[in-house]
Amino acid sequence: MSPRARTALIAGNWKMHTTQATARDLARAVADIAAAPGVADAVDVLVAPPFTALAAVADVARGTPVRVAAQDMHWADTGAFTGEVSPVMVAELATHVILGHSERRHGFGETDGDVNRKAHAALAHGLVPIVCVGETLAERDAGKTDAVVARQVDAALEGAAPDEAGRAVVAYEPVWAIGTGRACDPAEAGRVMRLIRQRVAAAFGAPAADAVRLVYGGSVTPDNAAAYFADPDIDGALVGGASLKADAFGAIIRAAAVAPGAPAPAGARKEQPT
Ligand code: PEP
Repeated sequence: MSPRARTALIAGNWKMHTTQATARDLARAVADIAAAPGVADAVDVLVAPPFTALAAVADVARGTPVRVAAQDMHWADTGAFTGEVSPVMVAELATHVILGHSERRHGFGETDGDVNRKAHAALAHGLVPIVCVGETLAERDAGKTDAVVARQVDAALEGAAPDEAGRAVVAYEPVWAIGTGRACDPAEAGRVMRLIRQRVAAAFGAPAADAVRLVYGGSVTPDNAAAYFADPDIDGALVGGASLKADAFGAIIRAAAVAPGAPAPAGARKEQPT
């Protein structure tokens, strides 16, 4: 089995859960799992606490393999935007930022244009954007999955340089699979991943398409994780509910570490943005 082309990424989206104290505890447990032999070299582990716990978790994560993400941000550096958090602020504490999560798109009216502005701001501030895309159940039933995903990918990355597109992460998260226990069939998730990689190749070239990490999200559990990671085009997972329990999240991380082709020998691993 040849090594994976890209290092696996397992990201936990804690959504509006955890206090500073419980976030610290969870981050410590995740750090122990991420540092374990066989895991540290094979999987990049990321946690996305709520804004109020970002500093606490960044403190815990310092000196460990765990990286920290914000769950959203505004695109402006500063300004009169009550309640918002800027890329400058996020970059003090995090290396990544989740953008365009379906709960932002559908619950808070975030548009493709907003996601694009945020992605540019993230890249300009050295943050890795984790751009979430995915169709609703109505769109899937209407046969619009590919068109919706292609539109969201194109719009999010429009205007980026090829190396910037290659640094990004795209999370394919069918809306109907998020938090429902109804996970997408791994073969179908793999098919959509290949569509996304083709869109990136068409817009930014083969090197960007080879570098961009594509992760699946939607009811990933310890029981179904390995089936996704067996697909060479699925580079990991964005995990919601199961990331709130260290045992479950750890099992998903370990599934990525032992997936076919992982870990890549150190010399063959492509550099991933930190
Ligand atoms: C998510 O919130 O991005 C997500 C995938 O949630 P869950 O794993 O709970 O479906």
